[in-house]
Amino acid sequence: MQANSILEKRVKAIDCNHFINGEYVSSKNGKTFENINPATEEVLGKVAEGGKEEIDLAVAAAKKALNGPWKKMTTNDRIAVIRRIGDIILERKEELATLESLDTGKPYWLSSTVDIPRAAYNFHFFADYLRAVGTEAYQTDDQAINYAIRRPVGVVGMINPWNLPLLLLTWKMAPGLAAGNTVVIKPAELTPMTATLLGEICREAGVPDGVVNIVHGFGPDSAGSALTEHPDVDAISFTGETTTGKIIMSAAAKSLKKLSYELGGKNPNIIFGDSDLDEVIETTLKSSFINQGEVCLCGSRIYVERSVYDEFLEKFTAKAKELVVGDPFDPKTKVGALVGEEHYERVTKYIQIAQEEGGQILLGGKRPEGMDKGYYIEPTIIVGLTADCRVIREEIFGPVVTVVPFDTEEEVIERANDTHYGLSASIWTNDLRRAHRVAGQIEAGIVWVNTWFLRDLRTPFGGMKQSGIGREGGMHSFEFYSELTNICIKL
Ligand code: NAD
Repeated sequence: MQANSILEKRVKAIDCNHFINGEYVSSKNGKTFENINPATEEVLGKVAEGGKEEIDLAVAAAKKALNGPWKKMTTNDRIAVIRRIGDIILERKEELATLESLDTGKPYWLSSTVDIPRAAYNFHFFADYLRAVGTEAYQTDDQAINYAIRRPVGVVGMINPWNLPLLLLTWKMAPGLAAGNTVVIKPAELTPMTATLLGEICREAGVPDGVVNIVHGFGPDSAGSALTEHPDVDAISFTGETTTGKIIMSAAAKSLKKLSYELGGKNPNIIFGDSDLDEVIETTLKSSFINQGEVCLCGSRIYVERSVYDEFLEKFTAKAKELVVGDPFDPKTKVGALVGEEHYERVTKYIQIAQEEGGQILLGGKRPEGMDKGYYIEPTIIVGLTADCRVIREEIFGPVVTVVPFDTEEEVIERANDTHYGLSASIWTNDLRRAHRVAGQIEAGIVWVNTWFLRDLRTPFGGMKQSGIGREGGMHSFEFYSELTNICIKL
C-alpha cells in the first residue's frame, strides 16, 4: 500500500544526522542505518548511527555550555527563547506532523492535532511556569534565617520512546531547559525525524550552541548505553519499557545519577453498571485503540460490571468494527500502522498467546484483508482470560484489549491492583461516593473518573510500582531538573 496524499508529497522525509554543539554532523565512523516507513515498509532515509564517540562529543559540548551564555541569560530572555521554540514548532506544524506520521505510522490527523500542538505547548507552558517558580524560606526563631536557592542539575541525558516522539521528548526538554540545564537527547531509533528538525528549530529560536545536543543510535552497546554510563551526565530522564529502565538504573548507579522514569503500564478501565454506556464506549474506543494502542496510558484491561457486560460487549465490538484501519494520510483512517516489524511480531505473538491461554478473539486479531504491506493489525477484543494469563498481566502496547466481567466493587479493586504496574486507571460511574472511594484505592499515578487522557500540565504525572519513579508536570518537573542549596544565616 502506498501512502499517497498531497501532504506527503509536499513534505519529504529527511536523512537524520546528529546535532552536536549547534551543528549537524555525521558519525565519525560514517555508520548509518535505514529508517523504514511502517505504513509501506519502504526506506524513508538514512540515520547516522551514533555511539560512544558521538556521546562523548555531545556531553563535552553540553558541559561547556553549562557555564556559557545560557547561564548568563536573564530569566526573561530564557523565557523568550523557550517560548520561541514553541512558536516555531507551530509554524512548522504541517511539516513536523507529516514526518511524525511517516516515522510512526500514526494517522496524520492525530500528529497534527495532538502530537505537534502539544509539543509546542510543552515549551509555552514551561516558559510561563518559569516566571512563577520560587523557593522556600524559614526563620528559625531568632537564631537564623534559611532560604533555598535553585540551580540546574547540570548535563541531563534524555532517552525517549517511539510512540509519541516529539511530544514526549519536549515534555522533558522544555522543563529541563527552563531550569537552566543543558541536554543530550537520544531519540528512539525508530522515529528520528522530528527530533532531528528540533536542532535547527532550537538554533533559530536562539538557543546557544551546546545547550541542546541530539545523538541518534540504538540503546544497548550504542548511543543509549554510552549516555547512561557517561560520568559527566548528572541526571537521566527516561521514558520507555520497564525492563530497559532496570538496565539503565544499574548503568547509572556507577556515577549515582539522578533518575526520572516514566515506564510501562497495563491500565485498568473499570466500568460500573450505573455509568452512561454510550459515553463510556465512545471514550473506551479511544483509550483502547487510539495511536494503535501504542500509548502508555491506554486502558488495555477492561473490567465491566456483570449487569451491563453483554450490552457493553455487543455495542463496543460493533463500534470497534467500524474503525477504519489503513493509510495514515487518509483522513478516514482511525487506526494506522504499528511502528515497525519487530513490534508487529510482538503484538501478533500476544494474540497467539491469548488463544493458547483459552481466550476468545471477539474482534480482529489479524492483519486487515487485502493489506499486504505495512504493519497493520485490526482492533482486537479478547474475552475469556483469567487473572493469571500473560495477556492480562503483560504490556502489549498495541490495539489489543481484554474484557472481563466483575460482580463487586471489592473484587474489581483487587483485580485492578493485581499487577506490578501502576500508571493510570479509568473509572466509570455516576455514583459520586463510589467514584471517590474507588479512585482512592486504585494503585496508579493517575486515576480518571468518567474520562480518559484529560491532562492539565500542572498536575503530577507518573507511575507507581514498576511504572515509574518520580513525577513530571508543573513543579514536579522543576524539582527533578533543579538542585536546591539551603543557605542558613545566623542572625
Ligand atoms: P524501549 O525501552 O525499548 O526504548 C526506549 C528508549 O530507550 C529508546 O530510545 C531506546 O533506544 C533506549 N534504550 C533501549 N535500551 C537501552 C539501554 N540499554 N541503555 C540506554 N538506552 C536504551 O521502549 P520503547 O519500545 O521505545 O517504548 C515503549 C515503552 O515505553 C512502553 O513500555 C510504554 O509503556 C513506555 N512508555 C511510557 C510512557 C510513560 O509516560 N509512562 C510514555 C510512553 C511510553
